[in-house]
Amino acid sequence: MTHWHYDHFGGLGELEYYVRLQRNEPLGFAVPPSAESQFAAAFPYMLDCLSCVPWEFGTSFRFGDIRITPLEANHGCETAGLLLESGTKRLAYFTDTARLPETTKKAVAEVDWLICDATFHDENWFPDQHMSVDQAIEMGREVAARHIVLAHLALHYANPITDKDLRNKISQHPQVSLAYDGMRFGL
Ligand SMILES: [Zn+2]
Ligand SMILES: [Zn+2]
Repeated sequence: MTHWHYDHFGGLGELEYYVRLQRNEPLGFAVPPSAESQFAAAFPYMLDCLSCVPWEFGTSFRFGDIRITPLEANHGCETAGLLLESGTKRLAYFTDTARLPETTKKAVAEVDWLICDATFHDENWFPDQHMSVDQAIEMGREVAARHIVLAHLALHYANPITDKDLRNKISQHPQVSLAYDGMRFGL
């Protein structure tokens, strides 16, 4: 869990029946330290389903041969992006951030993939919390990401654009693509 905003935690309730009927043991749930009490208040009936493990910036988790490290993002509340590393491959996942803190920029320099907040098209209504398509591409260039994947798209905001027109617009940047559900990366 990168941060406690509804668009990220709203679906947690769906896990209740998976844990109770299929898994039959609590699921580890890595949360922002400040969100532990918010989780307890919002999902009191799931405290025996998800066991909170507060993450710390810079302290890695290991899943098989993949290392996952929460890194600080700029989003107005305690928010991490995730750096995933496997062998020599590195992927940074920052769905909600307004640019990146300096220490984070260094940690994600030259990643193979930067999955990046591109919430807005044209005008950025929340410049302290999110980025626009153009700002996300600029951010990716600044950290020298090999591929930039635009995510958290909410194109009904400032200036509507169709998927087709957005693809045309970014086609001048061969290293940029749009995120989609089920997207796979060769980590
Ligand atoms: Zn958010
Ligand atoms: Zn979000």
